[in-house]
Amino acid sequence: MSEVEKKSLDLLRKYPLCDSCLGRCFARLSYGLSNKERGKSIKISLMLSLDSEIKEHEIEELSELKDIMFNMGRVAEPWFKLYFPKEEFQGRACFICNDEVEPMKDDFERKSYEALQEDKISSYVLGVRLSDSMKSIEDNLVINESLKYYESIKHEIKREVGKRLAERGFPPDMENPQWEVVYDLGTRSIFKLKTTKKQLNFFNRLSRGVPISNWNSSYPDSLSIEMERKGRKIYYAVSERPDIRILTDYPLVTDEGPDVNVDGYHVKSSAKISRRDLSLIVSMRPKRRYRAMVYSDRPKEGWVRLYDKLYDVFIDANSPEEVRETLKDEQVLFIDLVGYKGKLRKVVDLYMRKENI
Ligand SMILES: [Zn+2]
Repeated sequence: MSEVEKKSLDLLRKYPLCDSCLGRCFARLSYGLSNKERGKSIKISLMLSLDSEIKEHEIEELSELKDIMFNMGRVAEPWFKLYFPKEEFQGRACFICNDEVEPMKDDFERKSYEALQEDKISSYVLGVRLSDSMKSIEDNLVINESLKYYESIKHEIKREVGKRLAERGFPPDMENPQWEVVYDLGTRSIFKLKTTKKQLNFFNRLSRGVPISNWNSSYPDSLSIEMERKGRKIYYAVSERPDIRILTDYPLVTDEGPDVNVDGYHVKSSAKISRRDLSLIVSMRPKRRYRAMVYSDRPKEGWVRLYDKLYDVFIDANSPEEVRETLKDEQVLFIDLVGYKGKLRKVVDLYMRKENI
């Protein structure tokens, strides 16, 4: 048996899973299949493996397979009847979706198609709001069963319904949508949200002790509070501890508007940002370059002498804690962020170049 088969058998011993939900556990393996096809194929290949084990007399207690058969659902019914002709097949509802994922897609497609037609909406993306119970079932399953190839139910529904609507003449506009059409799985209703345009800005933090947001912080002021006072809203900022100055241009995503001045910060607006670039920025964890000021009798190679025993030391690290760890035998006066690398840098450079054209 392959790893996928072993894992699937393990899951089906414990939970009834419909074709889509089993397939979704391995969604990031293979390409160009729906999760329903993927799940059904896994069940079929499991039936082949297990049936050959039965016929080779490798399984002693046939009745141990009953639960797996029931948990596979109707696809396993004829096979069950072969070995247990006098017994009733037990239908069990899917542990994740309660056998509702397919009807929900149909319902979402119908309701959103009507809304798009009625309101003559041409630029939109789909959204899905999970019920709390479904969200917790999903989260727990992914963690408890360590499902590293899992795709969320939300994502599958959005993707498949989007595809169907595109075939019916309403392709979603991923780049620059004007509306978000959201399906609430709990109430089976849809609602529309006008999307706000988002702007990329670059900022520096020139003072210590002014955090980006007040959430979980003991400082009274923050960049987000000050910006909100001036009528601007922050959607996303790369986080950095408040005692670290940020001397490089760091991305900050807000609603559209002019530059605002906030004490301790320098914020400069850039271009409107596409959804794709926004999700790129949000998902990236860039490698950072820090500058530490060190007081030392024993300077090392590469340190830049500032004055007497004071040195500037430049270190590539994921966090200031890592910098302190590297310099644990030294007296570190302070740490500043002076650069970052990787994909985030490339996206940022692209926007900065746009400004200069
Ligand atoms: Zn299901």
